[in-house]
Amino acid sequence: MVRVASIEKDLCNPRKCQLECVRFCPINRIGKKAIEVPQDLGKAVIYEDVCVGCGICVKKCPFQAITVVNLPDELEKHVVHRYGPNAFKLYGLPIPHEGRVVGVIGRNGIGKTTALRILAGELVPNLGMVDSKPSWDEALRFFRGSELYNYFSKLVNKRIRVIHKIQHVDMIRTYIKGYVKEVLERIDERGILGELKKVLDAESLMDKKVPTLSGGELQKVAIIAALLRDADVYVFDEPASYLDVRERLRVSRAIRRYVPSRAYTIVVEHDLAIVDYIADLVSVVYGEPGVYGIYSKVYSVGSGVNHFLNGYLPAENMRIRSEPIVFNARPEQRVVELSHKQTYLTWTEMTKVLDGFTLKASQGEIRAGEVIGVVGPNGIGKTTFARLIVGEIEPEVGYVPFRGLRISYKPQYIKGEIFPWEYVGEALESVAKDGIASSEWFTEEVIRKFKLHKLKEKRIKELSGGELQKFSIAIALARDSELYVLDEPSAFLDVDERLAVAKAIRKIIEGRKTACLVIDHDLMLIDYISDRLIVFSGEPGVRGQSIGPVDVRKGMNMLLKELEVTFRRDVKTGRPRVNKPDSYLDRYLKSVGEYYYTKPAEDEREA
Ligand code: ADP
Ligand code: ADP
Ligand code: MG
Repeated sequence: MVRVASIEKDLCNPRKCQLECVRFCPINRIGKKAIEVPQDLGKAVIYEDVCVGCGICVKKCPFQAITVVNLPDELEKHVVHRYGPNAFKLYGLPIPHEGRVVGVIGRNGIGKTTALRILAGELVPNLGMVDSKPSWDEALRFFRGSELYNYFSKLVNKRIRVIHKIQHVDMIRTYIKGYVKEVLERIDERGILGELKKVLDAESLMDKKVPTLSGGELQKVAIIAALLRDADVYVFDEPASYLDVRERLRVSRAIRRYVPSRAYTIVVEHDLAIVDYIADLVSVVYGEPGVYGIYSKVYSVGSGVNHFLNGYLPAENMRIRSEPIVFNARPEQRVVELSHKQTYLTWTEMTKVLDGFTLKASQGEIRAGEVIGVVGPNGIGKTTFARLIVGEIEPEVGYVPFRGLRISYKPQYIKGEIFPWEYVGEALESVAKDGIASSEWFTEEVIRKFKLHKLKEKRIKELSGGELQKFSIAIALARDSELYVLDEPSAFLDVDERLAVAKAIRKIIEGRKTACLVIDHDLMLIDYISDRLIVFSGEPGVRGQSIGPVDVRKGMNMLLKELEVTFRRDVKTGRPRVNKPDSYLDRYLKSVGEYYYTKPAEDEREA
């Protein structure tokens, strides 16, 4: 066994603790040195060759800054990169395939972006040797004889050109200032801008300046910019973020269609329905976020996603999650009793006008014990509707009858300043008084799954986007409320976190006969969680109309018909899968008007 010790520098604070990690280390006690706090560093250091991995320091650290894992010796042959002593360690890489799209799925902080940067030639892998300067020559020697050698030798000898669509598209605003049109025309090496802006419905963006674009608009511009380039390798880091369902499908189609046919394409993405649709092959990264990540072999996309959901990788003989994610709780089987007593909340037809935008909501009601999924394009009035329901704004026509419900609302855009506490720990303690949050279940399934226990010492104002999202969801769910309203909870979250949210919601709502509205663009999440749906349509930014709640089958049919895609069910896991356009099943389902096909169908892509 080899030791991999990780110390989170932000959390380790020797001035605020009793140095119990050093004092209680059994190896230190026999006069050797496994852990110390060097004066000049002011942080703990673990010497992995001396450490025996007993885990005492891990338990003693009051800030949960230390993780020590024992990994099999043979894994050491596959170390590709390490950021420094006691820092994140990467084993293996996803193997690019010529002419194919390789999807990468895995938790946040597990080494996806790191791998993309190495494959893009932006980061020289140091093979775990943190003390010497890494070189491509050495890296090439390391990859000799492996499937990656061919790829890296072309990369290092500059025989292939790589284009990298970065994860954090919002950063583009700070270094590109001009008009979208000018920026894109300058790089239109393949002469396909005219086509792409039609396919991605981006014509209206052309006359805007880059810094004024919304997240979704920037995402589209960044993807168009990547496809305009004439390259051999295209790397897309989280292309679906900020986009609505229709845009996700459009972007997926554009990537499949416009990447040159012999190119290597790699796509990192958390929306599994999109990975399934866009990729031919998939590699799963597993390990311990922030500590180490291991790339699996490349599987066909259908079986790779299934293995991921099942939590077991057969070729690696590796369990990656304690329990499988099952989609057998078919929405149509979740029969909610139609009794008047259980009606929680009703609203009449409503109209709300905001500047140039008009929302018309159909009359509706929410019953006790149900989760309502809310779907539709961006800018169609979903957030406006949520604000009407929680009473933040009033409609011009219609009303939500007073009901005195206690409401928990997680807005789409969150600022740390809106919370009445300074520190995460303080906030968690405060909400724990309400009951749910102090339960063992909540601590295990929400706080620990979200790693919030590690953030207790952090200021809420200083949390990153993903951390703030997890914190806000936990706070909303922790409250003893009767109606929970979550606006785009999946943004910035990985699959495991999305499922933790989904499970927590179902458990709270079913157990306590309360109700929940979830606005989201992740169709697998919506399918997994919803009893009924509210579906929005209209003209984004101009007018929006909501229908529902209607049952999931009807709602999905409405949505999918507009999107012109059909679903089938995976035989093994029951998860929804988007059919290939114009495949036999796609044409058949469209002809009978059954876009949301609930029976399992044989998978034609896996033989
Ligand atoms: P992912 O893309 O899967 O979310 P990343 O590859 O961005 O993960 O990061 C993997 C781990 O490496 C994280 O714990 C991150 O904090 C750490 N890391 C990333 N970049 C650096 C860096 N330049 N120096 C030290 N640690 C880093
Ligand atoms: P969604 O949540 O479906 O993306 P929103 O409800 O946020 O859509 O917005 C619908 C439309 O209303 C958008 O065109 C948006 O610009 C506009 N809008 C939202 N809030 C306001 C506001 N406070 N003032 C003016 N216009 C607004
Ligand atoms: Mg990343």
